Amino acid sequence: MLGFTAFGMLLAPSSALVGGTRPNETIPIHLAELAAFGFVLGSVSLAIYGRGGMPLVFLTFVLTVILDADHLPAYLGYSETIRPAHSLVFIVAALAVTTIMIKALDIELVMASSFMGHLAVDTGLFAPLSPLSFQYYQLDPYRIDFAVGAVLCALAAGLVLRTRTKSEEVGGTQGGA
Ligand SMILES: [Zn+2]
Repeated sequence: MLGFTAFGMLLAPSSALVGGTRPNETIPIHLAELAAFGFVLGSVSLAIYGRGGMPLVFLTFVLTVILDADHLPAYLGYSETIRPAHSLVFIVAALAVTTIMIKALDIELVMASSFMGHLAVDTGLFAPLSPLSFQYYQLDPYRIDFAVGAVLCALAAGLVLRTRTKSEEVGGTQGGA
């Protein structure tokens, strides 16, 4: 993600390098909101999957919050674009890499859920096609859609993991017999 952010900093025209951080005193509240929604989404997966689903909760929680690591350069005083990794290009690239590396649909759904969950909590401007385009759009009108998408992906993640675990259990029993 930070590599992606650096890439955006290199590609962006200087007019787009206007990303800043929110006022310091509001950061903890925003992170708490992200953490809370990440936890809710993880709990949705857990509710579907049942016992043993805690890693899903943890992963969703961490991924939802960590997307904001793309603000780090601005926080350290570098000019960057607004929310470089809050981008469809980023999530598609991240999903592609994950698919190639681990091929686990439940993990990919958790990633999609966390990403949309994060955007449902954020407000203000984002560049959905960063770093291909730095056209900024208001995020607010899409927040409900992102929230719905996040919950649906969290449900699907729990379901996929459940189906896979159950079929592995069956396969294991047959193998042992
Ligand atoms: Zn954010």
